[in-house]
Amino acid sequence: MSIDSKYREKISAFLGLEETAIGLFWKGRVGLYGLLQVMGVRPGDEVIIPAFTCVVVPNAIKYLGATPVYVDVNPDTYNMGPEEVEKHITSNTRVIIAQNTFGLSPNLDPFVALAHKHKLRLIEDCTHGFGGSYQGQPNGTVAEASFFSTQWNKPYSTGLGGITVCQDPQLARQIRNWEASLESPGFFKRNLLQAQLMARDHLLKPALYWQLLKLYRLLSAKGIITGSSSGGELEGIQMPADYLMQMSGIQKKRGLKALADWEANKAHRQKLAALYTEALSDLSVPLPGDTPYASHTYIKYPLLVRDRDYIFGEAEKERVPLGDWMLSPIHPVREGFEKWDYPYGKNPRAEFLSDHVINLQTDPGISLDVARRSAAFIRNHKNQLYRKEELPF
Ligand SMILES: *Cc1c(COP(=O)(O)O)cnc(C)c1O
Repeated sequence: MSIDSKYREKISAFLGLEETAIGLFWKGRVGLYGLLQVMGVRPGDEVIIPAFTCVVVPNAIKYLGATPVYVDVNPDTYNMGPEEVEKHITSNTRVIIAQNTFGLSPNLDPFVALAHKHKLRLIEDCTHGFGGSYQGQPNGTVAEASFFSTQWNKPYSTGLGGITVCQDPQLARQIRNWEASLESPGFFKRNLLQAQLMARDHLLKPALYWQLLKLYRLLSAKGIITGSSSGGELEGIQMPADYLMQMSGIQKKRGLKALADWEANKAHRQKLAALYTEALSDLSVPLPGDTPYASHTYIKYPLLVRDRDYIFGEAEKERVPLGDWMLSPIHPVREGFEKWDYPYGKNPRAEFLSDHVINLQTDPGISLDVARRSAAFIRNHKNQLYRKEELPF
C-alpha cells in the first residue's frame, strides 16, 4: 500500500470517518482556503471568525476576495459566543469559523444550530484541537467541515501540514478534486523540511529553548529556513506564489509515526495541564479548561499576567520556557491591522487577552521537572497574575 493510502486510512480511522472525508495539504491554511473555495465563498462575501486567531486565517479569506468579520472572544475558552456571532450575521455572511483555541474546544452545538438557522456554512478551525473530543465525538468531526494543522507547534506534528475533514460527501469530493489539482512540493522544499525534521529530533532540548527560539526566528525572518509563514503573509494580503500545494510524502510518513506516538503525547499534555492546575488552583486566578462538554488536549496552558514583557524577561533569566501565543488578535501581526480589516479597539476582550496572555508548555519535549519549575516560577510571580475579580470584563 502506498504511503498516501496508508496515511489516509490511519487518519480517517483515528477520526472514525470514511477515508474520502480527508484532504491532505502542505499547510493547514491551504486546507482552509480550499474549504472556503469549495463552499463557494467569493468577493463581497463575509466570513465570521474570532478576534483571537492566527493571521493566516483572515489571509485565506482575503485571498478569495471575501471579508473577515471579527467577533470578540470570552476569557473562559478564548472562543467567541454564539449570541455575539449572531449579531454580526448580515445578508453577505456565508461561513462561520469556530476555533479551537489552546486545545480548549469551543461549545459547538450552538454554532451548528446557528449555522442551520441562518443557512450558513460552519467550519471548525481545529488547528489546536487534534485528539480532543466534544460531547464524546472526536474534535474535527462535529462541524460540517474542519481543518487541522500539523505544523511544528501543533499538538500532532508533521513539521508542516494540513488536514481537512468534511462530513458532507459532496463537499468531501469537491475538496479531494481540488487537492488533486494542486502541485506537490518541489525537491528543495521537501528536502528542507526533511532536514529540519531531523534537526528538530536531535536539537530541541528545553535547556536550549530561548537560544533556539531566537535563532529560529532570525533564520525564518531571513528566509533561510521554512518558517510557518513567509514574510509576505505577515505584511500584506498577496497569496505567496507557492501557497497552493498538496501534502508531500515526507509529511505523510512523519504523520504515521506521530500518530503511533499520539496517545503518549496526549497523555503527557493532559498530565502537565493537570500539574499546572493543581499547582495554581489556590490562587483564585482564571485557569483554563473546566468545561463539561469537552476533553481538552492543551496545546498550551494559557495564563493572564499584568506585565508580559517583564515576565518574559524573568523567564528567560531562569530558563523557563514560556510561550507567547497569541500576542495579537491576528497573531503575530503587530501593526497595519486595517490590511486584514481588523478594527483595532473594537474587541476589548480579545485585545486585553492578547496583551496579557502567556502560556506554559505542555509538549512532549517538556519534562515533568521543567513543568514543576515552570509552575514554581509562576507561583513566585503570583502577584503578576490577574485574579478573577480583577479582569475588566
Ligand atoms: C497554526 C494555525 C493555523 C494555520 O495552520 P498552518 O498549518 O500553519 O497553515 C490556523 N489557525 C490557527 C488558530 C492556528 O494557530
